[in-house]
Amino acid sequence: NESTFQSANEIIGKIEALGHEAYVVGGAVRDLFLQKEIHDVDITTSAPVNIIKSAFPKTIDVAIKHGTVIVQYKGESFEVTSYRGSSLLADLAMRDFTINAMALTKERVVIDPYLGQVDIKNGCLRAVDDPHNRFIEDPLRILRAIRFVSELSFTIEKQTLEAMHKHIDNINQVAVERVFSEFKKICLGNNVEKAFEIIIHLKIVDKVSYFQEVKHALKSVDTLKSMCACKNMTEVWILFLFVSRYHNYKNFLRSWKQPKKVIDEVETIMLRLPILLQNGFTEEDCYFLGIEKAQKAERVRAALLHKQPQINKINSLFHQLPIKERKQIKINGSEIIRLLEKDEPRERIGEIIFHVEKAILQKKIENKKETIINWLREEGYIGAK
Ligand code: ATP
Ligand code: MG
Repeated sequence: NESTFQSANEIIGKIEALGHEAYVVGGAVRDLFLQKEIHDVDITTSAPVNIIKSAFPKTIDVAIKHGTVIVQYKGESFEVTSYRGSSLLADLAMRDFTINAMALTKERVVIDPYLGQVDIKNGCLRAVDDPHNRFIEDPLRILRAIRFVSELSFTIEKQTLEAMHKHIDNINQVAVERVFSEFKKICLGNNVEKAFEIIIHLKIVDKVSYFQEVKHALKSVDTLKSMCACKNMTEVWILFLFVSRYHNYKNFLRSWKQPKKVIDEVETIMLRLPILLQNGFTEEDCYFLGIEKAQKAERVRAALLHKQPQINKINSLFHQLPIKERKQIKINGSEIIRLLEKDEPRERIGEIIFHVEKAILQKKIENKKETIINWLREEGYIGAK
C-alpha cells in the first residue's frame, strides 16, 4: 500500500507542477481508512486528458470521452480522470456513497464533505445527498450498495435502503456487464449471507429479469449458506443452476456474457456432478475433469452436502494417476493408423485411443508404446503382425 500511495503522490506532484489540482479519490481512500489492502488507485484532476497524456510517457486510453486515461508508473497502473463537474467538490458530489466520496491530497489531507470517515467508523453505507436521485441517475448503485455489504459487512442507512427498495426495478435497464461485475463481488464477498438478506428483503430476485432462471436457488437459505464456500463464479453458477434444476446452462451463461472458459467449466462439471454427489471422487473423475475443474467440482460437491471440501484428497488422487491427460499416452493417432488394416474406418482411431486410455488409467497396462501395441493385438483391436 505504502509504495502504491508513494507512486500516486509522485503522479499528483507532477500534475500539480503543471498548475493543476489532483487527488487520490474513491475506493483507495476508503480502503486506506478501513486499513484494507488497496487494489486500484484512482486519481481525479482538474487537468484535461490531453495534458495528462502528454505529461506521462506511458498512458493507455480507456475511456477518453469520459475523461479517463490509465497512467502506467513504476510498474503500476493508475486511473486518472478529469473532474466530473467544475471542481473537486462537484466531482465528489457525483459519487455514490459517502465512504466513496473522499479525496486525499499528496500531503494526506482529507477532503470529506459528506463525513465519510464518520460512516466508516460506524460501518454505515449512506448515499451522497438524496438517495432517490442517486439511484434514479444510476440504478447500478443499488447493487454496488449490496456489494459493499458483502465486502465490508456495513449496514445500509435507512433512507438509502428505502430508496433502493423503491427503484430496484430499474436494474433491468443496466447493461449486463456492469450488473455482473457487482454481482460477482456480492457472491464472493466475505459477508455474502448478510448481502443476501438484503437481496431477499428487496425482492430483487422477482424484480430483476437477470435472475429468473435461477431464482429458486437465490431464494433458498440453504443454498445461500453453501455459497459461502465458493471461491469463484464457476462454482457459484454451478450451485445456482444445480439447485434451480435449470438445464439450459449455455443460454443462461451467454445471457450473462460469461467467457467461454467459464461456460465450458460449468458444462463439464454439471455433467459429472450427480455421480460425484452420489459416489464421491474416483481417480478417473479427476483425470477427466483435470485438476482445476476437479477442485472446483469438489468445492461445489462439499458445499451442497454442507461438508468441508477435501481438496487434499483430490490432489492426491490426481497425483496417483499414471497419466494426467490424453496427450501423455505414448502412442498417437497416426501411429495407430499405420497399425490398422487399410480398409478399417477412420472413426476406429478415436475409439481405440479411448480404450487405451481407460486401460492405462485402470492400470491394466503400462504407458509404454511396446506394451500398448501388444495389448491392442491381444485384444484384437489391430491385426496380428
Ligand atoms: P473497488 O475496491 O472494487 O475498486 P471502488 O469503490 O473503487 O471499489 P470503482 O468501480 O473502482 O469502485 O470506482 C471508483 C470510484 O468511482 C468509487 O469509489 C466511487 O467514488 C466512484 N464510482 C464508481 N462507480 C460509481 C457509480 N456507479 N456511481 C457513482 N460513483 C461511482
Ligand atoms: Mg476502485
